Formats: sequence, C-alpha cells, structure tokens
Amino acid sequence: MTIGTPLWLDEATPEVPCRSADKVDVAVIGAGITGCTCAYVLAQGGLSVRVHEARGIGTGASGRNGGFALRGAAARYDVARETYGIEPARELWRRTEDALDRLQSVAGDAFRRTGSLRLAADADERTDIRGEFEALREDDLAAEWRDELPRLRPDFRGAIFHPCDGSVQPARLVQRLATRAVEAGVAFEEHSPVRSVEDLEAERVVFATDGSGRGLIPELDEALWPARGQVLATEPLGERLFGCPHYARQGFDYWQQLPDGRIVLGGFRDFSILTEMTDEETTTEPIQEALDAFLVELLGYLPKVTYRWAGIFGLTQDLLPLVGPVPGHEGVWVAAGYSGHGNVLGLLCGELVAAAILGRDDPLLELFTPARLVQHV
Ligand SMILES: Cc1cc2nc3c(=O)[nH]c(=O)nc-3n(C[C@H](O)[C@H](O)[C@H](O)COP(=O)(O)OP(=O)(O)OC[C@H]3O[C@@H](n4cnc5c(N)ncnc54)[C@H](O)[C@@H]3O)c2cc1C
Repeated sequence: MTIGTPLWLDEATPEVPCRSADKVDVAVIGAGITGCTCAYVLAQGGLSVRVHEARGIGTGASGRNGGFALRGAAARYDVARETYGIEPARELWRRTEDALDRLQSVAGDAFRRTGSLRLAADADERTDIRGEFEALREDDLAAEWRDELPRLRPDFRGAIFHPCDGSVQPARLVQRLATRAVEAGVAFEEHSPVRSVEDLEAERVVFATDGSGRGLIPELDEALWPARGQVLATEPLGERLFGCPHYARQGFDYWQQLPDGRIVLGGFRDFSILTEMTDEETTTEPIQEALDAFLVELLGYLPKVTYRWAGIFGLTQDLLPLVGPVPGHEGVWVAAGYSGHGNVLGLLCGELVAAAILGRDDPLLELFTPARLVQHV
C-alpha cells in the first residue's frame, strides 16, 4: 500500500521544462490549477511571468483531491442564492459551466464528462437538496431529480444529477496546464519555496496557494483557514458500480469509480473536525478507519486499499474564494480559498486574477473581493 503519495501523482509524466527568469512583471506563488492557469493568461497578455513552487508542479491540493470537476462553488445553489444574491449566484454557476468546457479542452483524456450525483443521506438532506433542485430549475440551470438509485443502500433518499459535471485526473490536468504555460513563455521554478514576498524580483506577486502558503502575509493567514482532506483508493474492482462521482452529507462523503475499476473515496472530515483544521499533510487513523467503514457499508466488504493520502485546502468564512488585490499590500494579489471546491473554480479564478492584473474588469471580481474578509490594520 502507498501512504502519502496520491494515486494521481503515481503516474509517469513528461517533464515540464523548468528554467529561471530574472526580474519579471509577475511572480506567481504556487503551481497548482490556479497558479498554472493564472500564469498562462498573464503570459498570453504579454507579461513576463515566473512561477515559484515549493515542491513539484501539481503536488499541492491540485494533485491530491477527489477528482470531482463540478460547476458552482462550495455552497448549495439555493444557499448561494440566499447568501450572495440570485443574480451573482446564477452568474457564478453559469461561469463555472463555461470554465468546465475550457477545462475539458485543456485536459484531453484527463477529463470525462460523466455528470455527478449529489445524494440525500437522510430525510432532512432530501428536503435540503429538493430546495437546491428547485432553485436550479427556476434559474434554468440543468439538473435532474433521481429517486431510483440502483447499487446504493436504501437509506439514500434521492439525488440530484448534475449533467454538466465530470471526473478529472487532476495531476494530469495540472501537468497540461503547466505545459501550456511554458509554451506561452512562463518560467517555472520547482523546489523553490518563497520565504518572503520582498525577495521576489517582480512588479506584482500572486498568491495561488489555496490552503498553504502561510506565514508570508498575516492578513491572508487570518482569512484563509487550512483544512485537511483525506482520501483512499482501492485496487481495481471486477464490477462496474458507479458511473459518475457521488457525494452526500453536504459533500462530507464523496466517492467515484475510475475506468480501471478502482474506487476513490474521501471525506469524513466532520468526524474529527478540529484536528482536520490543520495544514499538516498527513493521514490519521480515525479518518482512515471511517473511510474503511464506509467502504464496507457501500460495497458489503472491504477491498484491498492501495493508496491513502491527505491534502490541504483553503476554507473561507463565506465559502467563496478571495480573488483580487490584497488590501494594504501594494502589488500583491490573491486567488485562493475555494473551500474544497477548487478544480473548476480554481481554473476560473486563476483566469480572473490574471485578467484583473491585465486591467480587465469582471462582475465576479466584486463577489470575490478580498476586501470583504481581509482586514487591513
Ligand atoms: C483531499 C482533497 C480533496 C478535494 N477534492 C476536491 C474535488 O473533488 N473537487 C474539487 O473541485 N476540489 C477538491 N478539492 C479542492 C481542490 O483540490 C483545491 O481547491 C484546488 O486544487 C486548489 O488549487 P490551487 O492551485 O489553488 O492550490 P494548490 O493545488 O494547493 O497549489 C498551491 C501550491 O502552492 C505551493 N506553495 C505553498 N506555499 C508556497 C511557498 N511559500 N512558496 C512556493 N510554493 C508554495 C504548494 O506547494 C502547492 O503546490 C479537494 C482538496 C483536497 C485537499
């Protein structure tokens, strides 16, 4: 069994050619989905860009997640409408649908358009997700209600099928985003941890570090809370059980079956919510045992588990990312804090922060403004 290295990062990949660049217009911290996308758009816009990555490309949350490529943001759509307003929520959902199309075109065989199922784990959750389903339909966003849930135990009480969602091999996606950025002229420096923003020879700096990258700007540390997610992957199963990503209990449990038959299962953070509010990237027994127990409930037996890993993502108070200039820090920008929902949103926000630096306005920037959560004293 492999502990620590995610299944996604355990595949041979072509090297992304790395080189250094002297003084640049923009230094990006973090080579995940956000940083690679942002760097590409900036280079396309004519700026010189250097990406600093403390480890290897795609080895943060982007190479450690559940592989769900979902539209929207971390909140349920009906809750998002109430919290952010109907128009902003609808705009955000539509824009992530478009971002999914762009993700698909870069990802190639790293993406499958499977749809996804948001399940109700009990009667209360059924009421909640019926509310989401109705809100989606009212706003002309595609969604189908499912009462028949073959292969699932009867205590699941219905589900929403989201037809535009998909499944992604996230590490392979980042590799392709990085290759595209290199072709556009971006310089990558791997194994290059940034220890001080002032040391970066750049006009502007972008934090694309989601839940990591702490200790550089105290105000960002206060607004972006690190959270740990834990995942496992089984050996390939002989039987095809699940055709698309499934998630239940407000996304606390999630699983999918890959084309080779493996189950990838993650979640159960809420079983030990306080210990999981950490940026320590290690697996723990209580959560891994909860994942094993859930596998037995799901399948009726415990198959061989071949990978166990952990990753860190960034949570915000209102579950929306911070995208834009960091108040009180001239020339410093951020795109981070997807609250566990960053595969598609990370791509969109990488594009958005780059567009903002290039002087292009966008209605979503108001919704995501860091000033709402970052207090400058
Ligand atoms: C276990 C888990 C499961 C998840 N499941 C899903 C899912 O199924 N679907 C979904 O949409 N989202 C999911 N997420 C969230 C999603 O993975 C992230 O939101 C997304 O990958 C963030 O991408 P990013 O590029 O912003 O950050 P990251 O991929 O975390 O990249 C940030 C990079 O910054 C680097 N870095 C940090 N500090 C420094 C420094 N000082 N100097 C240089 N480099 C630095 C890190 O090494 C890291 O590589 C999950 C997250 C986790 C942890």
